[in-house]
Amino acid sequence: MIYDQARYTEDDEKHEPLLAEKNEMTLEIGGSESPLPEELTREELTLPSLSEPELARHYTRLSQMNWSIDSGPYPLGSCTMKYNPKFTEDVAADPNAAIHPDRSAKSSQGNLGVLYGLQEYLATIGGMDAVTLQPPAGAAGEFTGILIAKAYHDHRGNDRSEVIIPASAHGTNFATAAMAGYDVVELPSDDGGRVDLEALKAAVSEETAALMLTNPNTVGLFERDIVEIAETVHDAGGLLYYDGANLNALLGRGRPGDMGFDIMHYNVHKTFATPHGGGGPGAGPVGVVKELTEFLPRPRVRKTANGTYEQFDPDHSIGKVHGFGGNWLVLIKAYAYIARLGDVGLADASAKAVLNANYLAEQLEMDVPYGPFHHEFAATAGDRDAADVAKRMLDFGVHPPTTKWPEMVPEAMLTEPTEIESKRTLERLAAAFNAAYTDSDDTLETAPSRTTASRIDQVAAARNPRLSWQALGENSLE
Ligand SMILES: *Cc1c(COP(=O)(O)O)cnc(C)c1O
Repeated sequence: MIYDQARYTEDDEKHEPLLAEKNEMTLEIGGSESPLPEELTREELTLPSLSEPELARHYTRLSQMNWSIDSGPYPLGSCTMKYNPKFTEDVAADPNAAIHPDRSAKSSQGNLGVLYGLQEYLATIGGMDAVTLQPPAGAAGEFTGILIAKAYHDHRGNDRSEVIIPASAHGTNFATAAMAGYDVVELPSDDGGRVDLEALKAAVSEETAALMLTNPNTVGLFERDIVEIAETVHDAGGLLYYDGANLNALLGRGRPGDMGFDIMHYNVHKTFATPHGGGGPGAGPVGVVKELTEFLPRPRVRKTANGTYEQFDPDHSIGKVHGFGGNWLVLIKAYAYIARLGDVGLADASAKAVLNANYLAEQLEMDVPYGPFHHEFAATAGDRDAADVAKRMLDFGVHPPTTKWPEMVPEAMLTEPTEIESKRTLERLAAAFNAAYTDSDDTLETAPSRTTASRIDQVAAARNPRLSWQALGENSLE
């Protein structure tokens, strides 16, 4: 359906869809009544005009060309592609939930209550004292968290210049520290794949603003020395930042706050089952300990003495990192998911995530150099090319894991089956891993051969996208 933008008024009566009559229609836009500057408007815009079945077929065809968690297992290590329960979509689609964020607090108590409830849930889960829901992704949460660390040090008149990050960390950690204006000090791993305590002791100084860490780390190993790590950083006057991408391993069992972390982000779209990927909206709430709450982004939501909810600005807020309270439709799904599972359900999810990773790894013919691991593991494709093995896995109807990262494992296949897969699916996944890993060189080099598209030039696809509602190329009759 195409809406006539030019005739849009706030009067709903006039906001009628135009019915498609032919394959193309020309819309008159702009004109003297347009509120937009003339140089930004066009006189005419030619749009395809399609019937509903044609449109439905277009999107259904596109969805079948792409892989999704609804079509099969998706064991993308560190990215955590888990099931997005359909009931959370219903909650988000409730028209009563979709109110304009500029509405007064008085007329949006229900929504503010949900945001407050989610702040409280996340604080409890992470062992933090206060949470902001504003950052729109994990990376944005990191950036927010490190800006909070900077504001804290600056406020105390204690300017610091360095952030310490393990070599195995996610690329966004390095980017975050650099964007916040810090020099990055890279920390090597010890032989077992964990933080090298001696190297950490040598690296901390009066210049240390923070150490960024995920636990379990990016090869799924729990940092057993976390208490000593925290003490080392705190003794030097630094803060401990927790990258929450791997919270799935700890959910309901261990809390970053109890381990000594001062700031953390939650990848709501990895841990709390809201959709993920494709550049779509996400959420990366940030939790902090008491000493840091006054620096959180504004506004936050609080409960007043008479039980109503209101928004307020923390005293020394770093400002805004996103519009309004954050990505509401993502946040309400996270709230619904946590509320439905409860503490027992969340602890059960982490237990199954760890069990599934271990059950899967046990059946692989590939080596897994580091362990014991938790919710994910990094297998090595050895003398095979991990990307080729991954491409071949697609031919067996499963999505491959993350490849070639982290670099401490050569030809890494970082695998996270998540808690949602059945024993049967895990066995099917293992069979696909093993068949691809042991396939002939010729087959691997030309794989995949059973998918809609084979090896795509990703740069060209991004630079010169062919956007059409019609089938193009070999399969086209035109
Ligand atoms: C995914 C991920 C991030 C970044 O999160 P986004 O939500 O994708 O921005 C950071 N660290 C780790 C370890 C991750 O896996």
